Amino acid sequence: MGEFTRNCRVCKEPMKSSPFIMCSACLKDSEQILNYIRKHPLSSLEDISQSTNVCISKIEMMVSIGFNRKDEYEPEMN
Ligand SMILES: [Zn+2]
Repeated sequence: MGEFTRNCRVCKEPMKSSPFIMCSACLKDSEQILNYIRKHPLSSLEDISQSTNVCISKIEMMVSIGFNRKDEYEPEMN
């Protein structure tokens, strides 16, 4: 196990070593998205994007990697 540079899985920016797979900025966005989804479980990606000011492609990326935490609510995307 050598040292290796990690890149944020969402925005691809290099990030400091962390237990998370996304950088702090993306973590913050993911928190907002998760909060929104909890309150509005049936919202579309467009709704989420407009309400959180996070671009849709970034939200899709977060959804595809499971929001970094397996124990969190995982939205079902249609
Ligand atoms: Zn990031």
